[in-house]
Amino acid sequence: MDLGDGGYRMKAWILRSLRKGIVTTKFPAGKNEAVSPWSTIPVYRSGDRNPYCPSSAIKDGSVTHGSCISCGMCFPNFEPSMDVHTSQSGKVIRELGKSIKIYAIDSGSCGACNLEIMSLSSPQYDGTRLGITFTNTPRQADALMISGVLTEGMREALLRAYDSMAEPRAVFATGACAISGGILGKSVSTILNTDVIVPGCPPDPFVIIDSIQKLRGRQ
Ligand code: SF4
Ligand code: SF4
Repeated sequence: MDLGDGGYRMKAWILRSLRKGIVTTKFPAGKNEAVSPWSTIPVYRSGDRNPYCPSSAIKDGSVTHGSCISCGMCFPNFEPSMDVHTSQSGKVIRELGKSIKIYAIDSGSCGACNLEIMSLSSPQYDGTRLGITFTNTPRQADALMISGVLTEGMREALLRAYDSMAEPRAVFATGACAISGGILGKSVSTILNTDVIVPGCPPDPFVIIDSIQKLRGRQ
């Protein structure tokens, strides 16, 4: 049988997929096999306890998680912790344990946080296996996931999105810009109470998944 060009391409594609096997992570069960080092918050290793830090995140050997912009300038005194459990949730909403719908909104980001958030829908992380899905309307959302510094142009949009959400609801500040304003701007917490902070610049998808699990009380 003549498969033609398209047929051969399809066959090659199927064989490649079979060779690769299942790429989806088992995280939070199992280990976080593909974490990118500098997306995790650094920890002190040796030498100077107060090296230069452009975001003033370092004080006497410890790092303020929400301010670190992952620039790596503190290396080798500090090294990536490889810890994906650095997020904090001030709220637990157990009703969201089986299903959580997220409305992601960019209040003034460089785009990298958005890419990491979107990757939760990729085959590698597959948020649906944990009941994590995205919606394009805040009216259907359980959580507002904000990335970027607070910009004047997005101030009203953020408040309107939050006001249109039903209770119970939660606000995520995703990435150093949203949490602390980074080195450029203002934190989104100047206009909204943030329930969950997700450190990193940008946060690794494992850190984002871990933060969602904390909000749902599944940790
Ligand atoms: S990686 Fe950069 S921003 Fe983070 S603590 Fe080190 S010097 Fe500061
Ligand atoms: S936290 Fe870092 S990656 Fe995220 S928007 Fe700010 S500069 Fe970009």
